[in-house]
Amino acid sequence: MSLIKCQNLSRAYGSKMALNNVDLTLEAGHPIALVGPNGAGKTTLFSLLLGYIRPTSGSIEVLGYAPGHPSLRNNIGALPQDAKLDPDFTLEQQLSLFAQLRGMSAKTAKREAARVLSLVQLSDALKQKPTALSHGMSKRVAIAQALIGSPKLILLDEPTAGIDPANARIIRELIAQLSDSTTFIVSSHNLDELERLCDQVVFLEQGALKQQVSIAAGNHASHYYTLQLQQA
Ligand code: ATP
Repeated sequence: MSLIKCQNLSRAYGSKMALNNVDLTLEAGHPIALVGPNGAGKTTLFSLLLGYIRPTSGSIEVLGYAPGHPSLRNNIGALPQDAKLDPDFTLEQQLSLFAQLRGMSAKTAKREAARVLSLVQLSDALKQKPTALSHGMSKRVAIAQALIGSPKLILLDEPTAGIDPANARIIRELIAQLSDSTTFIVSSHNLDELERLCDQVVFLEQGALKQQVSIAAGNHASHYYTLQLQQA
């Protein structure tokens, strides 16, 4: 069974086609890059996969289920582009609350909060509130939240955008480290970074799937990306 299968997938906002007849099949494995210019439809695709919005037409399956199916609750994690942490709760409190929302007991949830914070190298900040953290560190906490319950699929919407190189490196290393057990789909405008991290690139442009290429086969994402833009 494929990790993701989209058939003739379209999503409109009023008269604007954010995604237009996308046929896309992705298998579990190495990280996958999702790229495209602003407004290409990347966030819309993530929102559809998460079941936050419904397709206007066509179908979408994740691990054989329609997005939003209860069986996917613990199998798909996400870092939204505008991830926000609650300034009033410690990291331990908010991560364990999220873990409880995913069905864990209070005790297990607290352990899980410590585990995921350790994965993003922020164990020392367990009892701190987000206000004590830099932007890059906050991003790592939001990624820690996506790791709760060890989902099979994790969607990261621009995980390193606007953050300093040291935090960005930690995030890249984490993705590489966990990709044996989790498939990451990473949206980013940083093609060099994606080339180093991912095996496969999915190009969206104006809502259409333009290319799906394997970088492992020696292709260069930036080359294809430029080519697509020239042809547009
Ligand atoms: P970026 O790289 O800037 O984040 P993106 O590739 O994630 O862009 P989307 O956010 O999916 O692109 O947007 C695709 C298109 O759909 C854009 O034209 C956008 O303006 C439109 N769109 C997205 N969300 C909405 C919405 N809630 N209401 C109306 N139009 C929307």
